[in-house]
Amino acid sequence: AVGCLLAVIVVSGIIALILAVVGVKDVYLPPGTKYGMVFDAGSSHTALYIYQWPANKENGTGIVSQAEACTVPGPGISSYAENPANAGASLRACLDKAMTIIPAEQQRETPTYLGATAGMRLLREQNSTKADLVFAEVSKTIQQYPVDFRGARILTGNEEGSFGWITINYLLETLVKFSFAGKWIRPQAAEVLGALDLGGASTQITFQPSGTIEDNSTEVFFRLYGTNYSIYTHSYLCYGRDQALKMLLVALRKRTPAISHPCYPRGYEENVTAAALYDSPCVPAPAAHDPSQILTVRGTGAPAECRNAVQKLFNFTACGANRTCGFNGVYQPPEHGQFFAFSGFYYTFYFLNLTNGQPLSAVNATIWGFCTKGWKEASFPQESHRRLHNYCPSAFYILTLLHEGYKFDEQMWSNIHFRQKAANTDIGWTLGYMLNLTNMMPAEAPEQVKGQQH
Ligand code: AMP
Repeated sequence: AVGCLLAVIVVSGIIALILAVVGVKDVYLPPGTKYGMVFDAGSSHTALYIYQWPANKENGTGIVSQAEACTVPGPGISSYAENPANAGASLRACLDKAMTIIPAEQQRETPTYLGATAGMRLLREQNSTKADLVFAEVSKTIQQYPVDFRGARILTGNEEGSFGWITINYLLETLVKFSFAGKWIRPQAAEVLGALDLGGASTQITFQPSGTIEDNSTEVFFRLYGTNYSIYTHSYLCYGRDQALKMLLVALRKRTPAISHPCYPRGYEENVTAAALYDSPCVPAPAAHDPSQILTVRGTGAPAECRNAVQKLFNFTACGANRTCGFNGVYQPPEHGQFFAFSGFYYTFYFLNLTNGQPLSAVNATIWGFCTKGWKEASFPQESHRRLHNYCPSAFYILTLLHEGYKFDEQMWSNIHFRQKAANTDIGWTLGYMLNLTNMMPAEAPEQVKGQQH
């Protein structure tokens, strides 16, 4: 009998111990962090974004944050058309860095994507075989790392715009929010924000209009957290900053090998080969042209002429009379709500100190003032960088695009907020892309789970 009693005590002790261990594990172990990665393969460069979120909270908004943004050295992947293996190799430094950030035991379950935008859209237009080879090489490199690689592809312009819109509204929690009272609520006062993105080779405008959308090629639907959204989006290929400045240079070219550039400061001079100038489908080369010809570009610092030349890049009259329009005949409903303007919009306006909500008249005055400076005056000691001569044409380009292209008048201008980040995370399409592909944005509102920690 004593033996039996002892056995019962020992067994129940073991059971209690197991329960205690299981219990302790349930209650006290931190939920753990999950990771995801997206390469933004843009026309001018590639960046790797590493995101993280607590494993038990995948369905809310504002929960995923940026752990790291790594800039890939060298140009965008479309520049490796003649040497695709180097496109793959260029990604290594950032992948190696990611492997030091994501714990080894998490790496194999880290979803990893590469999305390419307008630079690759243009290369595909020029030579789809070369574009495929670049994708094969970047995929090969990523596959050599112990991550859950889910593919490399070109985003459509509509996707690029929509995912940027999702990123902003996710980060600012305008779609759904977990209230202090412990409930999921749809924020009432907060209207969704529009997104303005200026890349190197395309630009996107995306917002929820107050009325109907009359051209369904510009319409995207989302059902998010129990609410339907009908969103207007359009991507203008060739109207990214670098391609627009290239179109400008070509438009300024007369028959001589010298180009007078009213947007560059007086005293600035550079040489470009005809081959480099006509290297994109955005600027068709003249019929008889010598690619090895060297063109000398000289700045004249003439803001009125600069403005005129920039305006000529747009067709403002191509739309029918009874349609609201952007430019080049593209349908656009009247703007509605607050907008975030990021990437290229932000960089140039930040440089000119124009990101503090200045009115349109002040923005105009600053740009005219800056574009009047000579090359010596413009060369700030700490700003001897390679983009300096481009800030004047970029600024006039942005002003024309927003004011005359997208039709932001003086009043609507104050609804544009120039931002690079929200909630410590870079604004762009990558986060929205990952949230969508990993099903982290449910169509229905998250359920209330009793006793769940928040
Ligand atoms: P991204 O958003 O990286 O595609 O860049 C958009 C455009 O802004 C491209 O034309 C870039 O060359 C340009 N850009 C990128 N970084 C800067 C910067 N720090 N200052 C000015 N322009 C920039």
